[in-house]
Amino acid sequence: MAGTRVFGVDLGGTTAKIGMFTGEGEKLDLWEIKTHTDNGGESILPDIAEAIKAKMAENGLTKEDVIGIGIGVPGPVDANGVVYRAVNLGWGVFNLKETMEKLMDGIRVEGNNDANVAALGEVWKGGGQGCEDAIVVTLGTGVGGGIISGGKLLTGANGGAGEIGHIHVEDDETEACNCGNYGCFEEYASATGAVRLAKRILAENSDDTPLRGMENFTCKDVFDLAKDGDPVACRIAERYGYYLGKGLAICATVANPKVIVLGGGVSRAGSILIDLLKDSFDKYVFRGCRDVEFKLATLGNDAGMYGAIKLVLD
Ligand code: ZN
Repeated sequence: MAGTRVFGVDLGGTTAKIGMFTGEGEKLDLWEIKTHTDNGGESILPDIAEAIKAKMAENGLTKEDVIGIGIGVPGPVDANGVVYRAVNLGWGVFNLKETMEKLMDGIRVEGNNDANVAALGEVWKGGGQGCEDAIVVTLGTGVGGGIISGGKLLTGANGGAGEIGHIHVEDDETEACNCGNYGCFEEYASATGAVRLAKRILAENSDDTPLRGMENFTCKDVFDLAKDGDPVACRIAERYGYYLGKGLAICATVANPKVIVLGGGVSRAGSILIDLLKDSFDKYVFRGCRDVEFKLATLGNDAGMYGAIKLVLD
């Protein structure tokens, strides 16, 4: 590698975070630009290219100084850099890598799905550091994930690998998941899923709990009360742990990870999550894949940026 600088892009539906790093992964600069999703998101890549070129000029960098640009996209991306629709950006199917390389006068570009990229970041610099076989699960509004096997990110034929939020974990579900199926992992293990579970359990009985007095309680409220020993909140948390453990047991049986890293908003509840999921995980996982270490993510929102850098350095 001749260059000395890497750019990372964490592309979201409202803003694109862009970072300039050294080849060793040291952060030099970080800024944001607006994501314009109108007209099928046609100006998103030109806007990013312009922002990076301006930064290069400001720092006196030529294209020979740049090792490459890594981009995390909110949608499936295959190993050739083809995006298969990114609804939040207005994008259809096209080759992101080729398009962006043209805009950047031939500087190498690598793209991947944002959850996969965040997983790569956590394994490189965060909670899964130094681990060649890891699953990183993001427990946020939905459930996303990335699978690192033998040090490599699993992408799949159409960039759909690691969509663990849609593993089937419950037969008796009457509400549909965002994907159209019923009983998906993220219907229970996401932050929204945890609140939905809580509301169901509250409707099953009239036991007293401070949750009843809160109009719009969050998943954090439930775990905070469970930590304080509120019996109803504990029951909800146990139910949550049952689903979390079951979904992760299925993932672990497929990928045989050494480490599973829990990230996303729900993971701020901390190590209580690991205690809650253990019984169910042990019950459902294949014996030969049982020896898994659970860790909490440490990079937060920066995981996507570090992963984007790592895409280029790999
Ligand atoms: Zn689903």
